[in-house]
Amino acid sequence: SGKLRRPFVLANWKINMAPDEVGPYLQTVLPALADESRVEVGIAAQDLYLGQMLAATQASPLTIVGENTHWEDQGAFTGETSPKALAQMGVEYVLIGHFERRKFFNETDETVNLKTLAALRNGLKPIVDLDEDLSAYSHLAPDQVILSQLEAALRGVTADQLAEITVAYEPTWAIGSGEAASADQAQEAAALIRQSLTNLYGQDLAQKIRILYGGSVTPDNAPAFFCQKDIDGILVGKAALDPHKFLKLVNQA
Ligand code: PGA
Repeated sequence: SGKLRRPFVLANWKINMAPDEVGPYLQTVLPALADESRVEVGIAAQDLYLGQMLAATQASPLTIVGENTHWEDQGAFTGETSPKALAQMGVEYVLIGHFERRKFFNETDETVNLKTLAALRNGLKPIVDLDEDLSAYSHLAPDQVILSQLEAALRGVTADQLAEITVAYEPTWAIGSGEAASADQAQEAAALIRQSLTNLYGQDLAQKIRILYGGSVTPDNAPAFFCQKDIDGILVGKAALDPHKFLKLVNQA
């Protein structure tokens, strides 16, 4: 497509998938991905499975992604995940500020910012999620909500660090609802995000940053997202729980 950004297809298992389903899922997808280099392919999984998944993918291009991290490197924070440990285990990316983290676990723009900085400081690449939750910003228009979430997440992030970041546009109402955004609407949001990155960091850098769309992506609607100028990949929950659908999405990218 002539884009300078490599497409990214990322599954988000959330806390689905039983322990005895992890191995068979990987056995289904790994052979099909053995020679994949055009598309970056990843799976975000709960911490419990990361060690097993990292071991199983050592000779594979499949990337293993954490779903959350704490904002301190390590210490007395029972039940949290240390970004330092994630990085040392070999995890490359971590989701930050997913809609469900914001909604059910009280994550705010401030904690999203602290977690983004902690991930970067420890050598993890943050995938920063913007959920466009209008209810949290009653005084702002929808367009301004994502931009305000973006600016808040990136506070204190240097240009060198920005290069490590992926942005995900996942409107609240589209996640798990079966009602994806239209490709046009997602493109509009992605363009707005890229314009804001241009204002903040300059055009050269902004053109290199990947912007993903997430929210009820399926093999039926994915091709339309991949065609959009500013959309560089997808973040997929439900559809990616089926390894065959996941592979189909990778082939569509
Ligand atoms: P969904 O989830 O594909 O099931 O809507 C997307 C996400 O939560 O990232």
